[in-house]
Order: sequence, then structure tokens, then C-alpha cells
Amino acid sequence: MPTEQADVVIIGSGYGGSVPAARLAEAGMRVVVLERGPRNAAKDFRQSDDPKYLQTIVELVVSASNVAFRTGTMVGGASIPMDGAHFRMPQKSFDVLDGSGRAYWPEVYSRAALDPYYAVAEQMFSVRQFSWSEVPKAGGLFAKMLAAAGASAERARLNYTDCLGCGFCSQGCLYDKKNDLLRTYIPLAEAHGAEFRSGALVAHLEPSGTGYLVSYELGGQAAQIWGQRVFVAGGGIHTPALLLRSAKYLPGLSAHVGEHFNTNGEHAFLGILPPEFDDLSTYVAYKGSDNAAVMSFHWFDSDGFTLHPGGGFEPTVFAATLARAGDDVLPSKAWGMEYKRFVEEVYPHRLIGFSALGLADGHRAVTIDSKGKALVVDRDRSAYDAYLDRLESIVFAMGATSGVKLLPSTSRKLAGTTSAHLLSACRMADSVADGVVDADGQVFGHENLYVCDASAVPYALAVNPALTITAIAERTAEKVIAKG
Ligand SMILES: Cc1cc2nc3c(=O)[nH]c(=O)nc-3n(C[C@H](O)[C@H](O)[C@H](O)COP(=O)(O)OP(=O)(O)OC[C@H]3O[C@@H](n4cnc5c(N)ncnc54)[C@H](O)[C@@H]3O)c2cc1C
Ligand code: SF4
Repeated sequence: MPTEQADVVIIGSGYGGSVPAARLAEAGMRVVVLERGPRNAAKDFRQSDDPKYLQTIVELVVSASNVAFRTGTMVGGASIPMDGAHFRMPQKSFDVLDGSGRAYWPEVYSRAALDPYYAVAEQMFSVRQFSWSEVPKAGGLFAKMLAAAGASAERARLNYTDCLGCGFCSQGCLYDKKNDLLRTYIPLAEAHGAEFRSGALVAHLEPSGTGYLVSYELGGQAAQIWGQRVFVAGGGIHTPALLLRSAKYLPGLSAHVGEHFNTNGEHAFLGILPPEFDDLSTYVAYKGSDNAAVMSFHWFDSDGFTLHPGGGFEPTVFAATLARAGDDVLPSKAWGMEYKRFVEEVYPHRLIGFSALGLADGHRAVTIDSKGKALVVDRDRSAYDAYLDRLESIVFAMGATSGVKLLPSTSRKLAGTTSAHLLSACRMADSVADGVVDADGQVFGHENLYVCDASAVPYALAVNPALTITAIAERTAEKVIAKG
């Protein structure tokens, strides 16, 4: 049987896959997207924290040091569980230099250069700034805490329309109020003839003539498809793993594949509000959208981090880290009557959670085991620890001034735990000496092989990444179309 052929084969249907699928199909190319997961619709999602269900919504890739990273696992990738925050990267994030003085971002990138692509992406996702009347109470309390410490906060920009505030955004929106890829780029791609083949798990790819032969498994059967152009868009962990599995067929592949894995300086904090802080009887910590729709850039210019409040907590999530012997508010152990009273009285009305995103170095790498399975391993974290030292000292000082008791929600050892911002393991650069793909997303030394998902983002952004990944993918598609 002759091998199936397409103008474009795309592996993975998150932002890095669905955006080029739509644009290249619009340009008249035959596009096939191979997605390992199923295709779901809003009616398939559940308002449940059952771990079995959650693992169908996101895949947890557990690192060698027991840290779990969340990545997409169905048609639409992690646009399905994402929490809606859409921010353009400030210019300062484009300007970061490495230890040798080299800019992480290729020379052609700047906020001004990416702005037209950001504008298209925002229009596609109907991104808008929430009004204060839409901000959940968790966001209002967060802003009040910052104001008490003399710090600023602003309303966030989200892709939710007519949100009901039910608080199950990370489980997939049952009410179809989130403008994810299933409502935007995927139908656009399909309207122009693109095929999204679900349940297709790609093993590897190899050069073949002027394109690439992609080997995958569908319904237990081995299959192959040839693409004139191939996009690897399996997300921040599976894209480098796939390139590493294919490395023996790709001579000269950059030694940077899998290195510099960066979780965007993500570090979570918990606060216990004093009873007199506000009318807390109407505040229920686990209600309201998972993203509490506020963002603080107060320390961004001086210290390179932003703060974001979140809602929708599960008491069990914090059970292990809340226990602090001798504390007057926190239980000394995470079980028994003392913990039960805490969950009944303090947890619903006084708990506030938020996280930092910051311009911090990566301290892990993606590699593969002898069977080709993705592994996340630790690298030197001294620079990351220096970032955490500074971050915690500033945030705890803010807590002390505002009268809110603050503590990190994860131990130092697990810093970055459960991150969903999986950046830089196939980073773009101006030269193969520094990265895996060029500024236009093409793999160095391999014509027509592209990466424009989270793994191509060269460094931490200090804001949520989805809008930037989309803007880069729009730009990459434009370059591919111009090339013909
Ligand atoms: C719970 C959660 C909340 C988030 N909230 C926000 C937010 O508020 N704002 C924001 O900007 N970002 C947020 N993010 C992060 C954002 O969703 C990701 O950065 C983004 O989805 C990454 O896009 P991607 O295309 O790189 O990968 P993904 O979206 O992960 O897509 C990769 C796709 O490739 C598929 N795949 C992988 N390997 C293979 C293979 N071998 N064969 C075939 N298919 C494969 C996967 O199944 C997946 O569908 C959140 C993420 C999560 C999990
Ligand atoms: S809070 Fe809004 S976006 Fe989130 S699941 Fe509920 S309706 Fe959907």
C-alpha cells in the first residue's frame, strides 16, 4: 500500500499544533494533525476532582525527583484545562541575557515585533480584561492584601465569555464558556479541510526525500504518513522526547534538545487572612473561576516577577504542607480533629492562594529512557534557589506589612511542583550553537521540520505562556506560507 502523503503533518494539537494547522489549511495545504488523545466536547467534561478523571484531562509527567508536570492529553491540548489568563509578554522579558551576555530571544523578537500576532491571537480567543464586578472575591481580597502593603494589582485578561464562576476550569469547562482551541483554531482548520486524527501516538520521524516520514500507532496498529513539512508540537516535554527518539535519523541535531527546561519561575504561596480583614463570611475559597482574574506587575520592573491569585482549592492539596508545629492558626498535623476544625473554620473563609511567575533560570532537563519514554531530570539549581530566596523575602515582607500570614504552599525541595508552564527544552536561538530551532521555528540543519510549541520559547516569560506560544505559532505559519 502506498504511504499516505500530506503537505503538512503536525504532531500534537495544542497551541503549537492547532494554530499552524488552521493557517496552513487556510492557505490551501493538505494538513493532517496526529493527536495521541481523544476528542472531547464540553458535555464530556466533569466537575470532579477524582484523580482518575483528572488524569484524563492532563497527563502528569513525574520527574526523577518526584515533581509532577502537567501537559495536554487530548485534541486541543492543554488549552482545555488551562485557566484562561492571556497576557502579552512585557519588553523586559524579551531583553533577558544569559550569563555570557547573549540575549535568550533571537534578534528579530521584541514586543513590538510580536504585537501584530498577539492582536490576532487575542481576537481569535476573544480575550478581554475582566470588569471588577466579574472578578471573583478571591481576586478582590488579593488586591486588597497588596493595597494594604502599598502594592498595585490590575484586572486580568481572560478568554472566558459569560463565565458562571463555578470553579472547575482546570477540569474542562462543562458550560463551554472558555474560548479554547476546540472553539477557535480547530474548527477554523477543519473548515479548510484539515484532519485531526485522534488516538494517533507518534513514535518517531525520519527524513525521506524532501520531507519526513512519521511513524505512529493508531488503534494498536502501526502506521506511517509522509509530510512535505512536519511540525513537532507535542508540548514542552514530549516534543524534546520525540526529537531525541528521532535523533539517530537527524544528523547534526542540536545538543540543546531537552536542555534548559524552564517552568517560568512558578512558585505558589498560601495566605491566611486575619478574621477582621474583610467580611469573610461571603468568601468561599473554592468558589469562583480557578483564575481569580487579577494580576500584579508591581515587582516586575524591579525584580522580574508577577503575582496571580487563584481559587478552587482542595483542602487535601495543602494537607501535607499546612502542618506547622506550634503555629496559632495552622494545624500541627494534617489529619484528625485539629485538621478537621481547620478545614471547617479557616479553610473556606480565610485561605487565599496565589503564585509567582518570574524571569528565572531553568534547573531541569528532558531526556528519554531506554524505551524512549520522556524523563525529567534535575540540573544545577543554584540560580533558581537565588531567585526563590529573593522572591520569598519580598513576598513574605509584603504579607507582614498587610497583616496576612503567608507561607509557601510547596516545600523548597519541590519548588516548581505541578508546574504547567513547560518551556525551553527545544529553545529557539539565532544559531545552532545556542538552540534547537531558528527564529522561524525551523530545526537547525533540517529543512521543513518545525517546532513552535512551548518547548521553543527560549526562556521564562514571567507571564502565562499561552498567548505568546500562539503569537509565535502565528508568526511561524506566516513564514512557512511565505516560503511556499
Ligand atoms: C491546568 C492548567 C492551567 C493552565 N493555565 C494557563 C493559563 O491560565 N494561561 C496560560 O497562558 N497558560 C496556562 N497553562 C499552560 C498552557 O496551557 C500551556 O503552556 C500550553 O497549552 C502549551 O501548549 P503546547 O502546544 O506547547 O502543548 P500542549 O497544549 O500540551 O499540547 C501538546 C499536545 O500534543 C499531544 N502529544 C504529545 N505527544 C504526542 C505524541 N507522541 N503523538 C501525538 N500527540 C502527542 C498531547 O496529547 C497534547 O494534546 C495551563 C496549563 C494547565 C495544564
Ligand atoms: S468558572 Fe467559568 S470558565 Fe471555569 S468552568 Fe466554570 S463556567 Fe467554565
